[in-house]
Amino acid sequence: MTYGATAGVDIGGTKIRAAVVTADGEVVASATAPTPRGGAAMLDVAAGLVDRAVAAAGRGMGHGAGSGVGSGAGSGAGRAGVTAVGVGAAGVVDPVTGEVLAASDSFTGWVGTDLRAGLASRTGLPVTAANDVDAFLVGEATWGAVRGVRSAAGIALGTGVGGALWLDGALYRGAGAAGEIGHMPGFGDAVCTCGQRGHLETLASGRSVERRYAEAVGAEAGVGGVSAGVVPGSASALGAAEIEALARAGDPAAVRVFADAGHAVGSAVLVVAALLDVGHVVVGGGLARAWDLLEPALLARLREAPPVSGHPVEVRHAALGGDATVVGAAALARRA
Ligand SMILES: [Zn+2]
Repeated sequence: MTYGATAGVDIGGTKIRAAVVTADGEVVASATAPTPRGGAAMLDVAAGLVDRAVAAAGRGMGHGAGSGVGSGAGSGAGRAGVTAVGVGAAGVVDPVTGEVLAASDSFTGWVGTDLRAGLASRTGLPVTAANDVDAFLVGEATWGAVRGVRSAAGIALGTGVGGALWLDGALYRGAGAAGEIGHMPGFGDAVCTCGQRGHLETLASGRSVERRYAEAVGAEAGVGGVSAGVVPGSASALGAAEIEALARAGDPAAVRVFADAGHAVGSAVLVVAALLDVGHVVVGGGLARAWDLLEPALLARLREAPPVSGHPVEVRHAALGGDATVVGAAALARRA
């Protein structure tokens, strides 16, 4: 049954995914496409994917061809019981207006996009809009690793580092960027993607793992004037997944950069615990797939400096994998 289902949309830098999600958090149908350039094009693709997912969910219910889904705006009854859309999008999203307030440079024409009105007019359904890491945390707090906990922080280790806060059973958004710990200072001296120095993201993102490994290997090679701190821009630069494999094979430099990332996340967890006294933190994102490489240094950091509150903080690996943002966005639509 998809009665009472909502649609969740995950708008990321490389792909957009929409899913029809039941009231129990089950994904009954989904559709994915590459992210185009420009806000209007991204909304067009997102709305088209909602239509495709709704159509697939309708077929799953035995409505068959000719049910009218996929033809644009329609009534709830004609849309496989889907009553609302929630979207989790890259960037800082205004909690009141649903407008994208800020985004990284890689998102052309995204700042200023009105997610709520833009998707509502394209789908004919009410829309709730939030940041993708906010949606990830709502997913994990509703159906995942921190289900049932009163307060938790979420940390997403992806290309960059994102964060979100779940306080007293609800998402806390501030003016849109609450919990964004990726750009918190105090983590060394490297230049961040935002142009400032020493942010958590310079140690704990996929991009930083790649940069730091390249630096470490370049420094060890030590020939031809290559020195630490110089990023070799050559084709030999490895991706995070390859460095993860090297770490598993015992490559000391690869082990080191993952341990440094885990240690940095541990420090960030201590800051969040000190500030908000949250008992749980959930860590997800693509880089967190290497949980076994991150966790030992992370836990060692927590043991080194336990919260003075006396309340231990429990860090859990995300449970919903790549589904967390779409099911969380669908849950946000339900809660609205
Ligand atoms: Zn930064």
